[in-house]
Amino acid sequence: MIARVSLEIALRKEFDYSIPAELASLVDVGSRVQVPFGPRKILGVVTAVAEESGQAKLKPILKVIGGQTLVTPKVLQLARWIADYYCCAPETALKSVLPEAVRKEDAGWRERLFVRPLPVSGEFPKLPKRQQEVWNLVEERREISLAELVELAKTTAATVRKLEDHGLVEITSEISERDPYAREIILATQPLVVNPAQAAALEKITSAMDAKNDACPVMREKPEAAASAASRLTPHASRTFLLHGVTGSGKTEVYLQAIAHALEHGKGAIVLVPEISLTPQTVERFKARFSSGKLQTLVAVLHSHLSAGERHDEWHKIRQGRARIVIGARSAIFAPVEPLGLIIVDEEHEHTYKQEEAPRYHARDVAIMRGQMENAVVVLGSATPSLESYANCKKGKFTLLDLPERVDDQKMPHVRIVDMRQSVRDGKGPPIFSPQLKEAITQRLERKEQTILFLNRRGYSTSLQCPKCGYVAECPNCSVSLTYHRAEQKLACHICGHTEIVPSVCPEPKCKNPAIRFAGTGTQKVEDILGKLFPHARIQRMDADVMKRKDDYRRVLGDFRTGKIDILIGTQMIAKGLHFPNVTLVGIIYADMALHQPDFRAGERTFQLLTQVAGRAGRGDVEGEVFVQAFTPFHPAIQYARRHDFVGFYEQELAFREQLKYPPFSRVALLTLKGRNEEKVKFAAEHLKRELEKKLIERQVQSPKPKDLADGTTLDLGHRILDLIIAGPAPAPLLRAENFYRYQIMLRTRAMSALSRELAQIIQSLTLPEDVSLVVDIDPVSLS
Ligand code: ADP
Ligand code: ZN
Repeated sequence: MIARVSLEIALRKEFDYSIPAELASLVDVGSRVQVPFGPRKILGVVTAVAEESGQAKLKPILKVIGGQTLVTPKVLQLARWIADYYCCAPETALKSVLPEAVRKEDAGWRERLFVRPLPVSGEFPKLPKRQQEVWNLVEERREISLAELVELAKTTAATVRKLEDHGLVEITSEISERDPYAREIILATQPLVVNPAQAAALEKITSAMDAKNDACPVMREKPEAAASAASRLTPHASRTFLLHGVTGSGKTEVYLQAIAHALEHGKGAIVLVPEISLTPQTVERFKARFSSGKLQTLVAVLHSHLSAGERHDEWHKIRQGRARIVIGARSAIFAPVEPLGLIIVDEEHEHTYKQEEAPRYHARDVAIMRGQMENAVVVLGSATPSLESYANCKKGKFTLLDLPERVDDQKMPHVRIVDMRQSVRDGKGPPIFSPQLKEAITQRLERKEQTILFLNRRGYSTSLQCPKCGYVAECPNCSVSLTYHRAEQKLACHICGHTEIVPSVCPEPKCKNPAIRFAGTGTQKVEDILGKLFPHARIQRMDADVMKRKDDYRRVLGDFRTGKIDILIGTQMIAKGLHFPNVTLVGIIYADMALHQPDFRAGERTFQLLTQVAGRAGRGDVEGEVFVQAFTPFHPAIQYARRHDFVGFYEQELAFREQLKYPPFSRVALLTLKGRNEEKVKFAAEHLKRELEKKLIERQVQSPKPKDLADGTTLDLGHRILDLIIAGPAPAPLLRAENFYRYQIMLRTRAMSALSRELAQIIQSLTLPEDVSLVVDIDPVSLS
């Protein structure tokens, strides 16, 4: 027998090896193996086993890692789809489906020595005092790890060994599982009585799970062709749901009861949560429902804060079928749950679901694909769904489920927009606190209620904005704001390459403010000024600079919950999922900050952020109040967020995207060239553009009736690329990063699979200058 192996080096090629007789019983599709490659030993995954190979003189597999195959056939199939669709080497895709701790050759189960008493036959020997004490402890505990025993009895291992010599105890080596939550005391919870909206959503989800729905026919008949065929399938509307529920509407309860339903039918579930929301609070809600009593290890957790050993053990609990529910961040979508009944993607609009290094997959989209391949039901949940998912509901690809109201009749918070242009008329720079917000904070301090202040400080390059009239410099062709490049004193559009010089006064004829320039403000500055305004308030900042240690996040939230903090200032970190009944005020310092990023998603992002942050207010008995300070108070993203008008915002945003052919009316492939020499990068980018034009234009086809074809997948296009647009090359918004210059080419099409395939070939045959590299990002979430 021979095995075909995909090596861990991205050669885009598989190699055959012979299977030595002594390993024959261990090697199967999905096994991790060590093989010789030239003078080196390399790890890889077996992708196929066959009778014979086309090649003569095969080298043998050296070693098999782990007792069980690690990549299940279904996950292997998913990895192939990722390589195809996201245009990366299959080896890279395959590598990402296993956690590092599982992939490694030497990491494994931790073995520990345990001491147990043996039945005493005959007379009990007379022992020295120390040995007798140790024996007493062992007898009392019945089972104790050697390390713990030595510590408790203040003795040495040698003393314990003496008891072993007497035949009084046995010392055995056993696997001891590392459980990251071992020290938590979690109280079991029972399912709540659901309200009518929750019940209706659950009914749809559970009947989809019950419906007999055969896996897609292509997959059944020709599994090997499925990976590429799958990319052309459309999801079943009856099995993919978008659960749109305002913050506090009880989405989590719906997830919990849907999972219970999957378990009842012998199936497992994967719950994806953004890394940042994967707090102990969140994990506990799932453990409390499913990990009580004899179901101890039912829930496994996978995220980056676990130690390598913990991750290894959690993963194997899933692989062995002992854990049936997985909760984790992005990469948990590859968890080997079998059979898989349900996938939940909470906060599906979150951009952190996109991996920003190869393979650049989007976990939500991988979830949908995995759901189709394994015939699992997929539930995407959010208070502010992505425009893509909303559009998919309108097209009938997903089924929309609504939870329009907060549980317990809590009212949505009252949102007030503060026009910040008014407060700068005196010629000084923009203040951080408007009089209105200051007053509101004062009131909360007096009433002993809590306040959250939010500042979106992300972004390296700022847009140019007039603090007096709110003017923002925009590209005349692209309807995105221009990026201010400080060093060159230039404004540039990174989509079409348009540039202009920075005006010295505000170009608005009625304004002509000479103080046009946006000075950035960070959370630290907010903290300083707040401390001066309210010297007696207990203030805590929460951002990536402060939250360095594993426990910081938890400690600060604990302090806030118990009322040791009056005002919490933070970035994105505090925008989601937090539930604090005593927070009655939320202040958003500069709501426009995210609005003028050079990205067509800026409006969507701002709307989502405002809605999420506002959702932190009024989660208790007192109605919440939100102050939104803005320089462009009449921007639709701000106005619709104020009215909690989700549909209103999405409809107008869709109209804008359609006009400019941005997603969801197209899919984007962003090609970024990087190098130390700007001229070379620019030249390479222009060369690539010509290659693309030469090879892609002939494959392109215009959709006959664009209005009728919101997506291209309903047409049988074969290898043709629907409605191709090639833009650029243009300097990236972040033109120079860590001494690398970056130029971008943006491709748009209505059907990406065909383009991905072509791109893979073009890139393979492309020769770039040695010091210029190319990154292909399919469906990028950030255009920087
Ligand atoms: P979301 O995930 O939509 O923001 P949660 O699931 O966190 O909302 O629900 C908010 C609060 O309401 C939680 O404390 C939850 O326990 C409670 N809750 C959810 N559903 C119900 C229900 N049917 N009856 C009573 N309380 C509920
Ligand atoms: Zn432009």
